[in-house]
Amino acid sequence: MKKREAIVSFVEYQNMDELPCAEKALVREALKAASGAYAPYSHFMVGAAILLDDGTVVRGANVENAAFPSGSCAEKTALSYMVANYGDRQAVAIAIAALKDGQLTPDPVPPCGNCRQMLTEEEQRTGRPIKVILAGDSAIYVLESSQALMPLSFTGRNLR
Ligand SMILES: [Zn+2]
Repeated sequence: MKKREAIVSFVEYQNMDELPCAEKALVREALKAASGAYAPYSHFMVGAAILLDDGTVVRGANVENAAFPSGSCAEKTALSYMVANYGDRQAVAIAIAALKDGQLTPDPVPPCGNCRQMLTEEEQRTGRPIKVILAGDSAIYVLESSQALMPLSFTGRNLR
C-alpha cells in the first residue's frame, strides 16, 4: 500500500493592484464578459476571458435557461467558442470573475467540475498549460495550470 497526495499550490493576491499587468487586463476582460451574462434566475453573472497565444482574447458568459440544465457556464461558453473558432491556437490563460448585484464577488469563484474537466481536456489537446486566474474583490488566486484544479482527472487515456 502506498499513500499518495495531490497538492494544489497557487499564488494569492490581495487585490487587483498587486496583480501583474497581463493578468489584470484579462480579469478586466472577464468582468466585461460577466456584464453580458444572461442570468435572469440567479442574477449571478459570471464572465470568462481566455487569452490565446496570438494575443486574441475570447470571452464567454453564463447563459441561463428556464429549464435549468440547459444553461451553460461562462467557462464552457468561452472554451467552446474558442475551440470552434480558434482551434489552431493555444489557450495561454483564463480569467474568471463573477458579478452579484453588479459588484465583483468578495471571494474568487472557481469553475465547476464540468468546466474543470473541459479546461483539462484543452490543456491535453494543445499540450500547453492554461494559467487560471480566479478574481474576487478580497482575493485573487492564480494557478499555473488548470490540471491543478482537477487532480486524477478523467482523460482520453482512460478510454484506451
Ligand atoms: Zn462550469
